[in-house]
Amino acid sequence: MAELNSKVKELFEKDLIDIFIGYEEGTRNPRPYFAYSAQDADNLVFNDKCQGNLAVYLTRKDLVGGKRVGISASYFALKSISQLFDENQLKEDLLIVLGMKEDGSILEFKGLDEIRTYLSEAKAPSKQKDDELLKELSEMSQAERWQFWSDELSKCFKCYACRAACPMCYCTKCIIEVNRPQWIQPWISTQGNMEWQINRVMHMAGRCSDCGSCGAACPIGIPIHLLTHMMTKTVAANFGESNEQGNVLSTFKPDDKENFIL
Ligand code: SF4
Ligand code: SF4
Repeated sequence: MAELNSKVKELFEKDLIDIFIGYEEGTRNPRPYFAYSAQDADNLVFNDKCQGNLAVYLTRKDLVGGKRVGISASYFALKSISQLFDENQLKEDLLIVLGMKEDGSILEFKGLDEIRTYLSEAKAPSKQKDDELLKELSEMSQAERWQFWSDELSKCFKCYACRAACPMCYCTKCIIEVNRPQWIQPWISTQGNMEWQINRVMHMAGRCSDCGSCGAACPIGIPIHLLTHMMTKTVAANFGESNEQGNVLSTFKPDDKENFIL
């Protein structure tokens, strides 16, 4: 941790950043923290209780617009950062990324290429609880799985914390708030909740980093991140991994088949 504090101090003292996005100690667990000076850097922490994907703040214009930003990024935040670059949401000359390894050591990336090389070689941190539930879900019949998600989503009260926690949900106007036409029932019902989550998950196709922040943010504990996880797997199996050339639902080629429209 001392390494992180002194590194961030140095970034401020050399006038390389205006803001650093990291964590500070919270009441129970560490919480997001925004450092604006070398003195603030003393408050930064990083440990295995640091939850959430800090990359979510990189598209918040009110926080970082026009600023030179530093960020401490977990493996999953690095994946989101790479994806945000693919989607032209970040500028390389305005961002300094400190990769945080599980043992607390720091990776100093010189740019996007180094991040991508690291991600291509690094192993994703294990998530035992998720793996167990995914195994249970994969052993269910289609009808049982539908029932599982219907039961879970009947509890959803559309607080949109899952959306707020996700680095890939950066649209200024979300489909859920559009009422001409009204794409999704705004009131709470199992069907309307299903519509909302199926839409959210579809928008994540080929873009989700599998960070789990959406599930962790849900106040009633719906394991919503596993729906995006399953979508990611399905998309990768059928269409390949997303890459700089584009993503499944945001890429158009003139020779794409359009017979599905007819
Ligand atoms: S959908 Fe959930 S798991 Fe995927 S990137 Fe967003 S917050 Fe992370
Ligand atoms: S965080 Fe949970 S309750 Fe809130 S909208 Fe998402 S799934 Fe529904």
